[in-house]
Amino acid sequence: MSRPVRTRFAPSPTGPLHIGGVRTALYAYLFAKKHKGSFLLRIEDTDTARTVPGSEDLINKTLAWCGITPDEGVHEGGDFGPYKQSERKEIYIKYAHELVANGKAYYAFDTEEEIASWREKTASENNGNAAFYGFATRMQLRNSLSLSEQDVKQLLDQKTPFVVRLKVEPEDTVIFNDIIRGQVKFEANQLDDRILLKSDGMPTYHLANVVDDYLMQITHVIRGEEWLASTPHHVLLYRGFGWEAQMPIFAHLPLLLKPDGKGKLSKRDGDRLGFPVFALEWMNPETQEKSIGYKERGFLPQAFVNFLALLGWNDGSDQEIFSMDALINSFSLERVQKAGAKFNFEKAIWFNQQYIQKLDISYLSDLFNTFLKEKGIHKDTAFVNQYSALFRERITFLHELNTVGSYLYQDITFYDTETYQKKYKPEVEIFKAQFIDELLKIESLDANKIETLFKLLLEQLQMKIGEVMPIFRILLTGIMQGPPVFDTINLLGAEESIARLKKQI
Ligand code: GLU
Repeated sequence: MSRPVRTRFAPSPTGPLHIGGVRTALYAYLFAKKHKGSFLLRIEDTDTARTVPGSEDLINKTLAWCGITPDEGVHEGGDFGPYKQSERKEIYIKYAHELVANGKAYYAFDTEEEIASWREKTASENNGNAAFYGFATRMQLRNSLSLSEQDVKQLLDQKTPFVVRLKVEPEDTVIFNDIIRGQVKFEANQLDDRILLKSDGMPTYHLANVVDDYLMQITHVIRGEEWLASTPHHVLLYRGFGWEAQMPIFAHLPLLLKPDGKGKLSKRDGDRLGFPVFALEWMNPETQEKSIGYKERGFLPQAFVNFLALLGWNDGSDQEIFSMDALINSFSLERVQKAGAKFNFEKAIWFNQQYIQKLDISYLSDLFNTFLKEKGIHKDTAFVNQYSALFRERITFLHELNTVGSYLYQDITFYDTETYQKKYKPEVEIFKAQFIDELLKIESLDANKIETLFKLLLEQLQMKIGEVMPIFRILLTGIMQGPPVFDTINLLGAEESIARLKKQI
């Protein structure tokens, strides 16, 4: 019988969550939801020396902003907690000793210094290739396999610090199926006897990760490609514990690549090319250096999520716009590409623009209204609504809405006099005068009536649109770009439009 799908995102709070990590979380979430399963957030914080204050908080806030909601986790609770590895120390110790008792692991007493000098020695004897702690060398080192039972007992009684190492059998071949990469094979004689429990009693990533995935009944391990090399050790751990039947299915996601070349996308690339690599703002607690995130840059979370989902996945069609529900519906790990996904910031901007165009005018109006109020500017609802509707399609980022048409709610601060002079012909004065006269006669102004009037006058005065329109534009707004002039006049109202048209520049 197949088990209910359970996936997890298992970040270590050792620094700010990078967009690559957010994508991993997103794929694990989408997969779980698609299969009506559960998505867990597990904090892997056993490497206390590398823990960075604030990074766990950033993980939580980032997932919340993206709408990636864990079903179980530190804050959500659940039947398989605690969900923070530092609170599960006893569990790992118990399992590490169980593995030793079953002959699948052993105690090793060598100090770090001893190992370092041993490796150095072997490197000098072997053209710079240092030996690894494994089947070929373990009997030369100080551990419960090489020492007598009595010596081991004595060392343990004396509280000599020890680590627990996995005993890798060299004749084993590790083969596992990865949904994205297909069959992956490792020869065990190339694998070291990896440390499982450190001398301070803390588990390593490998032990804690496997024990927790087993205990938390994880069915699919979806994680970055950088963990592929650790997986054979994990498979051997599942075998060692006798948990092979419960071993999750693996899916190692391709890297996010630099936009302009090969190699993993880094924060430096973002700084160099001017785009964020974090979803939310992050302040480095050591240097106090602040890095802006996608949120602060003006991205909508829906656009950000859609963009991330398509970095390395598609549904096989040309469709690009997917809501979270649509992603859940269409997502499959089989369609995640094997090759790294080249990062493309322009595409992120494109997605944002697409989503802004779909926002409710009332939502934008509320934001704009708040902005105006903060500035002490009073405009009626009709103005705010029309303004928002006119500029929605002209902005790429939310905050641009406030200022893109500032000439409509405050005095013009800049006139494109160069174009004005180039286009100006004295005849336009006659047009202007008549237009103003007629405009005043229109009752309940609207853009259509203004357009009709404008065109009628052009005909009567036998003038071309290109002779009048640029002059009107610059007088009314200061610039050549912007929404249609008729809408602009309507928005400004007759009185203000006339005052602007009469201005000499
Ligand atoms: N703690 C690991 C990380 O920081 C988890 C890797 C995994 O998902 O197994 O990414």
